[in-house]
Parts: sequence; structure tokens; C-alpha cells
Amino acid sequence: MIIGVPKEVKDHESRVGITPAGVRALVDAGHKVLVEHNAGHLSSFPDDEYQAVGAEIVGEASAVWGLADMVVKVKEPVAKEYGYFREGLVLFTYLHLAPLKELTDTLLAKKVTGIAYETVRDRAGSLPLLTPMSEVAGRLSVQVGAAYLEKEHGGRGVLLGGVPGVPPGNVCIIGGGIVGTNAAKIALGMGAKVTLVDLNLNRLRELDDIFSGRVYTLASNAYNVERAVCEADLVIGGVLIPGAAAPKLVTKTMVSRMKKGAVIVDVAIDQGGCIETARPTTHSDPSYEVDGVVHYCVTNMPAAVPNTSTLALTNATFPYVMKLAKLGAKAAILEDAGIAEGVNTYEGHLTYKAVAEGQERAF
Ligand code: NAD
Repeated sequence: MIIGVPKEVKDHESRVGITPAGVRALVDAGHKVLVEHNAGHLSSFPDDEYQAVGAEIVGEASAVWGLADMVVKVKEPVAKEYGYFREGLVLFTYLHLAPLKELTDTLLAKKVTGIAYETVRDRAGSLPLLTPMSEVAGRLSVQVGAAYLEKEHGGRGVLLGGVPGVPPGNVCIIGGGIVGTNAAKIALGMGAKVTLVDLNLNRLRELDDIFSGRVYTLASNAYNVERAVCEADLVIGGVLIPGAAAPKLVTKTMVSRMKKGAVIVDVAIDQGGCIETARPTTHSDPSYEVDGVVHYCVTNMPAAVPNTSTLALTNATFPYVMKLAKLGAKAAILEDAGIAEGVNTYEGHLTYKAVAEGQERAF
């Protein structure tokens, strides 16, 4: 199979769909890999590393898309890439089609097989191609929050770990899933006092075991959330209700009662955010202040650390890339129910119910 790896063109997207390690495995298995010039540059994978393992470096995106049987990307195509679609092409990437009607229409009209990372499922029924980015964002949230707590960045000048004779900073993490657990690990590692709030009592039991009682667990209700955020130096939002907008657990009034110079990192902002005062921001203008509280609400946090994020993402995606290349899309979809769940468009048909519902189309 010919596999194409174009350079990402979406604003501020710095990851790449396949690393040199992946190219090596594909070439060893007899496939041909076309990598667009500088596709891996921002993730610190230069062209010569791809070339050294057998990739062909191609100058133009149109040639990568035009010659490949399967294109492996990171983000959904943007309008200027739609012209590259053609019948029979397999596209494996994050697609997030629900709000993207024009992209859906074009994939259907051009009969592209669109397999979306975000809907591929593993045998346990979880979403293995979303997990690594939650791990990155969770860990990064504390690193970013600690930096914004510095006076220079508008924070209250608190060192999360404290020092002997001075208490550590308070970190309140709302949502104890992948983001929350990874945030807790880093906050604990920095020596902070960590409170984890979740609605699911069984999850709180697991977290109590995982952290051997070193984090304070708190059942989620308005009273507990208010007390925890008002005591916090750093609040991290990591709540998810699958398929729904995040609930606004921290109200505007609660924010106004927080310590001046405290910091909020609302990781759940890609689902609307769980803090009422949160609005989406970008890497070029990541933070703003409400009532003296610094807000950081970047919707694609992993793009800040593209080398780690690319490696983490491709660790998870690559086994699927290999299977699709080996069997061809049709046989891989028939053989692997998890890949079949990833198929959003197939031969001109919309094949993912939630996308159809989101776009009010017949299914
Ligand atoms: P997850 O499903 O693993 O965890 C979500 C947790 O929220 C669960 O433990 C659930 O019990 C808890 N929860 C639900 N309702 C709650 C409530 N009312 N109070 C307290 N807890 C509640 O999800 P995740 O993978 O950790 O992702 C969290 C969010 O982060 C998602 O919205 C995800 O899209 C987002 N995310 C954002 C970025 C970014 O760059 N901004 C990157 C990765 C993930």
C-alpha cells in the first residue's frame, strides 16, 4: 500500500501522523510511505530521519494526497485540503465531523473512507486514540498552571511545592478521569496539596487506592466544589460527560470568591468547559483574567508539546495504521469491530450515528 503523511495545515497544529519509527515498520512490511517535506519538522522529526528509514520526501501536499491509497493525519482536513479528496481514498485522522457539515458533505460526495481516531474503540469499549491526548493535557495542565501562578504571569506568586516552613500550594482537580488522574500525579510530584473531585464514588475509591490516600477525594456537589475552589491556588477542570457539553460546575459567583491571582486551567474547554467564566483560547493568546483569577483555556493543549504528543498519539494509532495497510481498509473494517466503530464515512454513506444526529441527517 502507498501511505501518505501530509504536513498539518490547521492553525497551530504541530503534530504529525506517522513518526520515523512508524515509517520504518511500514517499509519493513513492504509498504511505500510518502512524507510531505517538513511534515515532522515542528514535532522535531526532520526530513532526513524519515529518509533514513526509507520514506520518500515529497515537495507538494497534492502529490502526497494524489498518490497515496491511505492518508494518515492528525487533525481533520481544512477547506483547502478538500480538493485532494477522491473516490477510494482512505483517510485516517481525528475527524470530529459532528459540527463540520461541509467536510462531511465533501467526504461523502467524493466517496472517501473516513476513519476517525475519536470513535475507534478497543475491546474494553474505551476510546484508545483519545486517551493519550488526555494524558498529555492532564500532565501539562499542572505544568502550565504552575507557570501562571508565578507573579510575572499574573499569578499570586505561589510555588506549588512550598518549601520547608511554608505550606505547599492547593490544587483542586475537578473530574478524576484520565485528565484528572494525570494532573494529580504531576501535582503530587511537585509537592502540592491535591484535592480530586468526582461524581463517581467508585472512581474516588479507586483514586484513593491509586494514590494511597495522598490526595483528598471529594464527592462532587455545589457545596464541596465551592469550598474546594475557594481554597485553591490552582483549579483544573477535567470533567467529561460523553457526548454532552461539560456541566458548569464552577459558577461565575464561585470564581469571584476565589483567591486573587489564583489560576484556572479548564482542560474540558473543548467540550464547552466546566467553569462558567471559561472561553476557548489559543496558544498565541492563551490566558485572560476574570475577577483577578487567571484563566487558561486552550482547546488543543497537546500542540504545545508536539514531540511528546506525536509520540504518544502515534503509539496508539500505529497498530491500526499497520492493520489497515496490511489488510486494506475493507478487510480491516470487517475483521476489527473497533476499527469498524471508527468508520464515519464509507463509499458515500454516513456511517456514524452520532454524527448524523448532530447534523440532523437521516441515518
Ligand atoms: P474521562 O471520561 O476520563 O474523565 C471525566 C471524569 O469526569 C470522570 O471521572 C467522570 O466521573 C467525571 N465527572 C462527570 N461529571 C462530573 C461532575 N458533575 N463532577 C465531577 N466529576 C464529574 O475524560 P478525560 O479523558 O479525562 O477528559 C476530560 C476532558 O478533557 C474532556 O472534555 C476532554 O475532551 C478534554 N481534553 C481536552 C484537551 C485540551 O487540549 N483542552 C485535551 C485532552 C482532553
